[in-house]
Parts: sequence; structure tokens; C-alpha cells
Amino acid sequence: MQRVRFAPSPTGFLHIGSARTYIFNWLYARRHGAAMILRIDDTDVGRNTQESLDSIFEGLRWLELEWDEQYRQSERLALHREIAQALLEKGYAYRDFSPYVELEEKDWEGGRWLFNPAMREMPRAESDRRAASGEPFVLRFRVPRETLEAVRFRDAVYGELSKNTADIEDFALLRGDGTPTYHITSCADDLDLKISHVIRGQDHLTNTFKHVLIFDAVGGRRPVFAHLPLLVAADGSKLSKRKHGPVVSVTTYRDAGFLPHAFINFLCLLGWSPKDDREQMTRQELIEAFSFEGINRSNAVVNFTEADPLDPKAVWLNAEHIRSMGVEDLSGHLLPFARAAGFQVESGKMMQVTPLVRERIKTLRDVAVAADFFFLSQLPPYDPAELIPHQGDAALALTVLKRARQALETAEFSHPSLEALLRAEAGALGVKAGQMFQPIRVAVCGRKAAPPLFETLAVLGRETCLERIDHAIRNLG
Ligand code: GLU
Repeated sequence: MQRVRFAPSPTGFLHIGSARTYIFNWLYARRHGAAMILRIDDTDVGRNTQESLDSIFEGLRWLELEWDEQYRQSERLALHREIAQALLEKGYAYRDFSPYVELEEKDWEGGRWLFNPAMREMPRAESDRRAASGEPFVLRFRVPRETLEAVRFRDAVYGELSKNTADIEDFALLRGDGTPTYHITSCADDLDLKISHVIRGQDHLTNTFKHVLIFDAVGGRRPVFAHLPLLVAADGSKLSKRKHGPVVSVTTYRDAGFLPHAFINFLCLLGWSPKDDREQMTRQELIEAFSFEGINRSNAVVNFTEADPLDPKAVWLNAEHIRSMGVEDLSGHLLPFARAAGFQVESGKMMQVTPLVRERIKTLRDVAVAADFFFLSQLPPYDPAELIPHQGDAALALTVLKRARQALETAEFSHPSLEALLRAEAGALGVKAGQMFQPIRVAVCGRKAAPPLFETLAVLGRETCLERIDHAIRNLG
């Protein structure tokens, strides 16, 4: 059985690049019936935080991305040490007893274990004796320079890759305090959990040459590697919280009113495209279309500016998904945003409003602005001049509103009858339909740009419409 994993380190919030890595693993898993494994890489005790772990789960939960198995590396340390020990036994690793030195360089806290490649040659008996006497050491991988010229592997995205062994240092497997490094924990777990495909960011390519050496030394089967292009800003710099702020955090998009599946769609198109270049896709369509061949090798640009932190393509996709969603589903997503904006909205009301505003909003958060007049008991002040119709004056506006008020008092409040009624009233007054509708629209919505008039009137109901028209009449007077 195929098995893939997402292996975040809980040292920051969930980065959009990490979310994309999760999604590509997940798409692969769902397409090929593979197991999706969530492995928390939490061995770096000094840098892990609960807050970060929470943010990873929060982001994944929001995106509704499920997994099949879950592990924590900190609970698997015995396995990591065992594999490191096996490498020592087989001669693939050696102890480096170089001292730990305090450093006074700036930007570097604390000290560092020195590296002495000559320790490769230390006889095993001497190495065992010094270790037994309690002398601390770093366990290093013995990169096979004499027998191997280059480390090679075939990446599912980047093709054949190779690196001269002379350019790979004897990297650490265990630190001087005995804790295992990322290289050994990651490979030991990938082997033990029978990971068939390692799909991760291209920034891990240099690690992968080391990992290939470990897999071969342990005698395990190498997983297939697929590295993903990086997400960068328009100037080519790698996206980072420190440099680019909240645009790199998944929760920013949740709070800005993105639909989870629209945001997944957007992330997928950062570095991947389907054969037919479709853009708006459902989860199921993404699963069916996903393949490593569609992944680009060049970095993917996320477009944002300080003034407009949301990528226009993400916003466009979100609007498309909003439009193609069922009313009930969309209404459920809009409700918390309306309530968060301070409106007391019942779900039944939201169901009525949803079809009227869904063409007019790009994010869920926009509902608070686009539909406020449905939720407010009183309209915010507006300029009475807005009530005056095209090619008309205040007197005409007054006539129209008074006439409409009278008609609405006994009207049946449904779209077709309201339309027929108000068109007939316009005819009777001898004014164009538009001249009739505009004052009514502004009176009930407080603005000219609003959803279709008759549906709007029907949802607002007789009482509210009459009140607002009365208010407009007073304003004009
Ligand atoms: N914990 C590593 C990271 O977050 C895992 C990388 C990997 O092997 O997938 O970058």
C-alpha cells in the first residue's frame, strides 16, 4: 500500500507553503488510495510551542483536510536512536569527540560542536572506550567518499539529480547531548512508517541527498521523492512571516472570508496545473486531475502588496466558488461572518438573503457590507440626493415614493406581483420604470448599487419597506 506523510515542525503558525505541501500529499493519497499520515516533527524541544501545534490543527481543520494516521516524533525517540546505533555498528557512522565551543559571533546564540573529519579514522575500540568513559560526542554519518562519487536520485518533479559526495559534509545523526537530528528522525520514521512517497518543499532538496545515503545505508527501500517549488513574493524572495507578515499565515485567509475549498483550489494552482489548464475546480476534480507531471519546477509567485494583501487570483477564485455553491451551504458559511460583524441574523433570514448577495460578494466577509440593510433595523444615514432619479428632481422622487408607499400597503410581497405592481404604477404616473425603481431602491437599501429590487423588497417585508419609504419621504421634504 502507498503511504504519504505531512511532517510539520510545530515551531510557528501554519504557513501557506506548508498547507500546500499538505494538500499535495493529500491529493496524491486520495487519488491513489494511499494512507495520509500526519507526523508531528516535535523533537526540537527548545523551539516547539503548543501555540504552533494548535495553529497547525486549526488550519487543517478549517481546510477540512483529514488524515488517516497520526504520530509524534517525540514518542519515537527509541527507534531513532536504534537506527543511529545500527549505522554506527555497520560502520556508516562514527563518533566525533570534537569539543563544544562557545561562540561570540553575532546572530548566533550559544555555541557549536566542532567538526573534525579526522575522527572518521579513529579505531572503533578507542571510540567505544571514550564513549564508555562518558566523553560526549556527535554521531556523524560517514559519507562514503572513496567508494561513491555522487549521490543520485530521481525526483518525480525535478528529474534526475546528483550531488558530488565531496560536497556533502559528514552530517550529524545524534547531537552532543544525544538527541537525534532531523536527518535521522525523518529517515527512521519514513522507513518505519513505510512511507512510499516523500512530497515536500524544494528547500529540502539538499537534505534529500543525505537522506538517500541513510536509506541506502540502513538497507531500506528509498521512497519516491517529489519536491515542490517554493512559494515566493513578486520580488522572488521566499515567503516568510518575518519579511511578509500575515499573508503567509493560513488563518489570515480564513479570517478574510475565504471558503476552505476555494483556498485549497488557489494553493493547488501555486506550482501545479491540470492538463487542460482549468482553474476553478472542486476538491473531487482536483483529486482526479492531480499528478506529479503537472507540478512546475519554477517557483510560484503569490501576489500581494501592502495595500492589498490578498492575491487577486485567490479572491477571484473565491468569488467563483461562492457563486457556484448551493444556497444552504453558502448561507451556513456566511452566517458567522454576518454575526461577527455585529448583526443579529437568524439562519432563515440568511437563507433568503444569500441568493440575493452571492453575485455581489468576493469574500464571505463582504456579506457584512453587501447585505447590511437586510440585517439592520434602521438604515445608516445616506445622502437624500441619491433618492432623485435620473432626469428627475426631488418633486418627482417624492411623487414616486408616495405612490409606491400607497401601492405597497396592500401589495402581495412576492417578486412577480411586486414587479407587476410597480411597473403598472410607473405606467400610471407616466415615468420610466427606472425612474420609479431608483428612489425605492435607495429608500429601502440606502444606496443605488444593491441586489435586484423586487426580491429585496420581498425579503425585507412590508413593514420595513413602508418605514424606510416614510423615512425617505421625510428626508426629501
Ligand atoms: N519537519 C520538517 C519541516 O517542517 C519536515 C520536512 C519533511 O521531511 O517533510 O520542514
